[in-house]
Amino acid sequence: MPIDDIPELGFASLAVRAGQQRTFEGEHAEPIFATSSFVFANAAEAAARFSGTVAGNIYSRFTNPTVRVFQERLAALEGGETCIATSSGMAAILATCMALLKSGDHIVSANSIFGSTISLFTNYLSKFGIATSYVPLSNLAAWEAAIRPETRLFYLETPSNPLMELADIRALADLAHAHGCLLVVDNCFCTPALQQPFPLGADLVIHSATKYLDGQGRCVGGAVVGDRQRVGVDIYGFLRTAGPTLSPFNAWVFLKGLETLSLRMRAHSESALHLARWLEAQPAVERVYYPGLPSHPQHELAKRQQSDFGGIVSFELHGGREAAWALIDATQMISITANLGDAKTTITHPATTTHGRLTPQERETAGIREGLVRISVGLETVADIQRDLERGFQRIASHSDLSATRGEATDR
Ligand SMILES: *Cc1c(COP(=O)(O)O)cnc(C)c1O
Repeated sequence: MPIDDIPELGFASLAVRAGQQRTFEGEHAEPIFATSSFVFANAAEAAARFSGTVAGNIYSRFTNPTVRVFQERLAALEGGETCIATSSGMAAILATCMALLKSGDHIVSANSIFGSTISLFTNYLSKFGIATSYVPLSNLAAWEAAIRPETRLFYLETPSNPLMELADIRALADLAHAHGCLLVVDNCFCTPALQQPFPLGADLVIHSATKYLDGQGRCVGGAVVGDRQRVGVDIYGFLRTAGPTLSPFNAWVFLKGLETLSLRMRAHSESALHLARWLEAQPAVERVYYPGLPSHPQHELAKRQQSDFGGIVSFELHGGREAAWALIDATQMISITANLGDAKTTITHPATTTHGRLTPQERETAGIREGLVRISVGLETVADIQRDLERGFQRIASHSDLSATRGEATDR
């Protein structure tokens, strides 16, 4: 029986099985269709496919069977009608804007979104007459005040990066719809394993599959999930014409990633909560940003809107940049890299990396201070992650040569 015909499969079952259609070879794992084009039985079939009267593969920029399995699986996990995969998360955002907006339209966006998304809106869409207003993520009145007659889209990420601020998706969906706008949610940090924006009223869900959907830092890719007209026709139409579609190999890697998504998100969340509690008790730490802590101002919203709190923990050190860099440099196992959502724990100093291009004033407004450190908690033994950070706290406490190079006398 085809898996999609079995009613009421749970999330973890869908993550392992949704979308698969076996070929006549009876393969158990999903095959990689490494082919750029597809053949037709005769000229009439070719003509029928090209005219669209008969559905079927033509060329892998349009459709590819491996990519299709990934799309169907992710649509099932988000509870969306359909999904289109893209060559990166940014390509998913670009395709959404190109397909749904036109010159003269306006976006209201959270100001705490991914840096390249801000750059896309501000530096590129603006050239085509599409304007963007930025508002504080959790300030509903600010969203409302920014709406213009020509506003078409609300755009947000929740929780935000790196301060883990939340948006009330339902409240913003209601506001967007009351003004004839669409709500687009970048669900990268939570994934559908922890947060499903559609039942809360979102119209489109964006993914950078590069992060948790892959989960092991191997491939770049993305996706848009939503209704058949906007995603299946409009956004698909832009993608098959313009070309930033997903490669079958990357789709296959993401399929393998999805199979372990619920297990991984649970493990990331469990270790992150453990570390967040421990970090909150450290004298060198001024503040911990993690929605799973009762000290988080939106802890109740997080409990209501998410099924767990995710793998990203940020914390502010008393000692500013000197302390932050000392802590980062004292780690031995944790990777110093700005990527996130990997099985490997990563650590970064947002003020000088991901948010380094902002002016000091913009950073101050965004709450990105010099003592801020962000970790993406991986799947290693949590005691080892803690011990690695402890090395940093010891270095800060000893105050001896805070500028020493990292991991001295180790062969990392
Ligand atoms: C990484 C990221 C993106 C961009 O995705 P790419 O796959 O790098 O293009 C978009 N949104 C969020 C929240 C991200 O973390």
